[in-house]
Amino acid sequence: MKLTHHNIQGDTPSSHFQIPVYEFGDKNAPCKIYLQAGMHADEHPGMLVLNHLMDSLEAAEAAGTLNAYFVILPVVNPLGLVHITHHAHRGRYHLTNGLNYNRGWPDFAKMIVADTSVCAKFGDDAASNKKLVRDWIANWLATTTPITALEKQRHIVMRHCFDADMVLDLHCDDMALNHIYIVPQNIPRYQGLSDRLGSVATLLAEDSGGGSFDEVWSGLWISLQEALPDHAWPEPVLSATLEYRGQADVYDDIAKQDAINLYDFFCDEDLIASAPSTPLMPACAPTALNACEIVRVTSSGLIAYHVSLGDVVKTGDIIADLISLDGTAPARERTPIYAGTDGIVFSMLQSKYVWPGTSIAKIAGTSALASRGTYLLED
Ligand SMILES: [Zn+2]
Repeated sequence: MKLTHHNIQGDTPSSHFQIPVYEFGDKNAPCKIYLQAGMHADEHPGMLVLNHLMDSLEAAEAAGTLNAYFVILPVVNPLGLVHITHHAHRGRYHLTNGLNYNRGWPDFAKMIVADTSVCAKFGDDAASNKKLVRDWIANWLATTTPITALEKQRHIVMRHCFDADMVLDLHCDDMALNHIYIVPQNIPRYQGLSDRLGSVATLLAEDSGGGSFDEVWSGLWISLQEALPDHAWPEPVLSATLEYRGQADVYDDIAKQDAINLYDFFCDEDLIASAPSTPLMPACAPTALNACEIVRVTSSGLIAYHVSLGDVVKTGDIIADLISLDGTAPARERTPIYAGTDGIVFSMLQSKYVWPGTSIAKIAGTSALASRGTYLLED
């Protein structure tokens, strides 16, 4: 095990940050696995999952059973840890520019396709093309100088993950059951990840429209395949956003089991030479992200739910009543909010005070919803 601290000079006088990076196993192993938690810095369950996972990886390293090189950034967004205002921590948006920390990551495929000198070198050998692409990104990282603290932080993160074969980004929802965002090209090959997570929704989108961190790494190979179909390309790397329940679900026993489940996934994949501790149990079937309804309200008020997490609803079922707090009958008038699809309710709200546009529930259905458009993220 090796721990390195990367320093970041903040944007304000006397402000400094550190990103800790843990490494387990042989750097020259045939497979590199990258995990991070806390990119949305106010999403803490993943940090506790990695706390447990790293104990297991250290033991596996000592036992000589690691077949892969693991790189882990359990506190990937120290910039977001300082956003404490009026005794509440918010870590989803960068305070300086309002950017969602998980949006607007670079589109390397677009940059590479625009570089005619590297495109002229691509041929019909997928491994050679893969090396050319990774060398191109390594060179871009080496020759790009980040200016702001946010750019410096992202630069450090990308340096550690750009050449990984698996990129797992641990998040959580507001109040939710385990679910996954992943590109369809990774399924069914990595359905086992969803199964091991006990996921109730495996949400597939090739490009959800916001430059999410996870989509950069699998999407790179998908986009190159689409843009340059005459050349040979490797299968997209596994890259996924793992949503570990809700923000308040930071419990040691649950996180420990989640870590065991991830460890078992690595055993299933022979990245750790051990038998998994439990048999693989199938979880949900995958569904398209544009079949996932984000139920929003159009006015302010108080939400009184009619459903619980895990409920399976039908189109037209009442999800909640919205109780207006003004108008002709303040705190008395109720307006029902209906499900717009059939599916499982996997995400709800902790705080029940809402305003126009607030998402009060997510329902994983199976039929594409025209209302979802091309920007599929909740933001
Ligand atoms: Zn998140």
